Amino acid sequence: MNYIVLDLEWNQGKKDITSDKNLPFEVIEIGATKLDNNFNIVDQYGSIVKPRLYRKIHPAIRDLLNYDESVLKKGRPFDVVFREFRKWCGEDYIFCTWGQLDLFHLQQNMDYYYFDRLPSPLKYYNLQEIYAKTKLGDSTKTPSLEKAVETMKIPIDGPFHSAKNDAFYTAKVFQKLSHRRLSDMYSVDCYQYPTCEEEEITIRHTNSIEYISSTFPDKKTAMKDSRITSMRCYRCNRNLKMKIHWFSNNSTQLCVGKCWNHGLQCGKIRFKNAKSDECFVIKTIEKIGKRDYEKIKKRQKDIQLKRLEKRHQKQAEEHAS
Ligand SMILES: [Zn+2]
Repeated sequence: MNYIVLDLEWNQGKKDITSDKNLPFEVIEIGATKLDNNFNIVDQYGSIVKPRLYRKIHPAIRDLLNYDESVLKKGRPFDVVFREFRKWCGEDYIFCTWGQLDLFHLQQNMDYYYFDRLPSPLKYYNLQEIYAKTKLGDSTKTPSLEKAVETMKIPIDGPFHSAKNDAFYTAKVFQKLSHRRLSDMYSVDCYQYPTCEEEEITIRHTNSIEYISSTFPDKKTAMKDSRITSMRCYRCNRNLKMKIHWFSNNSTQLCVGKCWNHGLQCGKIRFKNAKSDECFVIKTIEKIGKRDYEKIKKRQKDIQLKRLEKRHQKQAEEHAS
């Protein structure tokens, strides 16, 4: 099996005025690097896409991109480039990207041009997450590619923010990461989320389990569903004894449970937007240590204190007026 390290550049319209809601972000370059089963770089792909919707480069994109409209004009339409790219990928491969966005935008552009959908559930390697987990010890961090390239002392011989170059740099980072437990570290892309219970997805890793739900009208309804809030051991599927009940932490929900055989486990719920204002849920249950448990406990306490402080402050203000 080959690894296709994919990177895209995309452009957008000016807020609501020219933006097409079916394609808010238009791909303007597809870049990729192919690695074989032994992580040798065997080929590179790069092609500029001539935009159909947004011919002017958005100021925010212009600041990053190292080419301009004159280059885009010489590109070829998305459908032509994508057909060529898909052929270049071959049959047996898995996508690797830096972050979650590239596969999202690729599929949105494919939809816009009525291409057949990619296989679902779509497994891929999120190299940014794997890098953050294995090198920074925190999978929630989102380090930039530049930073990773710099830290890993990979020679820089072309500008960043060109899809072809970025894919190549990402491939270089990939080569330097440990591949020992790679097969356990895949992600599942959520562009095509489950729309009914039968399509719901459960992914088992060595030390965790991930569940992707079908859609709910809103977050509140989701949190009332026992499929969402139930906590079962990632290994033996027994109900966990709750040590910390679900609480809000920024935009996620956290909790901790314990299995008598398999120890402490952290539950995490993330909400994702679905069509027509609905949402779906990604729930992970992951083995944690005592120290992580204490950290989460402290986090909950801090949030409770802050809430209490706010309430007191509000009461005092009301009193004063
Ligand atoms: Zn268990």
